Amino acid sequence: MNLPVIIKFVIDLLAVLLLALGIKGLSKVKSARDANRLAAFAMSLSVVGLLSYYLGTSGIAIQSWIWIIIGSILGSLFGAILAKKVPMTSMPETVALFNGCGGMSSLLVALGVAIFPISGGQEDFDFFKSLINEVSISVSIFVGAITFTGSIVAMAKLQGWLSTPGWTQSKVRHFVNIVFTVASLIAFFDLINGNTSSIWLLVIVSSLLGIGVTLPIGGADMPVVISLLNSYSGIAAAAAGFVVDSQLLIVAGAMVGAAGLILTQVMCKGMNRSLVSVLFGGSLSAQSTASSGSGEYTNITSCSVEECALTLEAANKVIIVPGYGLAVAQAQHTLREVTKKLEQNGIEVVYAIHPVAGRMPGHMNVLLAEADVPYEQLKEMDVVNPDFPATDVVLVLGANDVVNPQAKNDSSSPLYGMPVLDVQEARTVFVIKRGMSAGYSGIKNDLFDLPNTSMVFGDAKKVLNDLIGELKDLGVGDK
Ligand code: NDP
Repeated sequence: MNLPVIIKFVIDLLAVLLLALGIKGLSKVKSARDANRLAAFAMSLSVVGLLSYYLGTSGIAIQSWIWIIIGSILGSLFGAILAKKVPMTSMPETVALFNGCGGMSSLLVALGVAIFPISGGQEDFDFFKSLINEVSISVSIFVGAITFTGSIVAMAKLQGWLSTPGWTQSKVRHFVNIVFTVASLIAFFDLINGNTSSIWLLVIVSSLLGIGVTLPIGGADMPVVISLLNSYSGIAAAAAGFVVDSQLLIVAGAMVGAAGLILTQVMCKGMNRSLVSVLFGGSLSAQSTASSGSGEYTNITSCSVEECALTLEAANKVIIVPGYGLAVAQAQHTLREVTKKLEQNGIEVVYAIHPVAGRMPGHMNVLLAEADVPYEQLKEMDVVNPDFPATDVVLVLGANDVVNPQAKNDSSSPLYGMPVLDVQEARTVFVIKRGMSAGYSGIKNDLFDLPNTSMVFGDAKKVLNDLIGELKDLGVGDK
């Protein structure tokens, strides 16, 4: 082994270790920021290691360095600006875009190597090396293209730029997707067989398959799709790692692939959906949800912030249910002030966390951690659900789908089967939201019509600020 190879090996090893440490740190809210920086540092280190290797072996022509530098600067600027500008509530779209970028990179790397083979051509390889090379190029193109187009469709749907076309809700879509799958597999194996002319067919039909599979999925099933596409981007990256012989890319891709699959499983469990029904069943599709949103409310009771404060003052136990609207209103700090006041008055307060509340996995945990809510007060759905009957007051803050009893009671509802928080079991429920708009799934919420539910209309932050004033007037939390 010559010196540049040894240096690259040591740098790669260090980068892999730092990346693994970084990913481990992401599992805790407290260490997540530093862990993210550590993982980013590991990736940069690996890039520097790779470039210094090429510098040492003079493997890259001077004009390529200019492109590498321009690409790195533009990419870093784009990433930094996006990270600064994107609000927390748009995270799913951003994650979808990043997944798409990951898929596209793997696709382009594999295309580049297939069209301009490394080290002077395939004849340098022995049979097995050549086979591994062909297989990894084909996997990288196939999965990368599906990830790229699927993620762009998911992003456009989440952003509201794209709606679900009617025909994708009929059985025709299965036929269309089967055609794309068969064509992709034919091109895939043809490419492995050494027929490089199949490469463009593989790119086109896999891209169409990505669109065909993602387009029919809508409504509340989107979190599952995003985490699945995240996993695909990891698989594509790992395959690209084999293509360019980068150990770090293989390890990082495998970790993302595995983590994405685990997350997909967690999301499916949280929503009581099987992956097959999400991908092929078209349940919770945009079309079906839209039709269920037309139901009228018949028994809405609304009340003032003052009445809400009076009921809270008399309570022994309060459960807070945060949802997407809390994140929109950025009311987490104000909420913390309210709950501190209640606790100072001897009232027990816990937070009920639904796995798909908000717009990204762990959204509510992150939001409440920002406001220094003690981790022990966050209760997962399975743990908190039996507590509702013994609860005096539930404050539903900008949540909607995750507290919709239709999911349990109405077999015709598109939400049917998704586990929800049983807030209606509590003595009194206050729902704080701006109006009667539906949640993400677009359907009516039967909770709002129940006799023990009162709506407190207004922006969550404004209502909570007013509540602090009312509680102060009542002397709550002044001890
Ligand atoms: P929902 O999207 O069901 O409802 C949010 C509610 O917040 C709306 O009804 C809205 O009503 C209200 N709201 C919006 N802004 C404000 C504000 N400023 N102040 C007060 N209220 C406000 O949220 P949930 O958290 O209950 O459910 C999450 C949904 O998102 C689920 O269907 C889930 O499947 C889906 N999803 C989840 C993802 C995840 O990974 N967690 C990713 C993608 C989708 P109004 O306008 O009347 O105020």
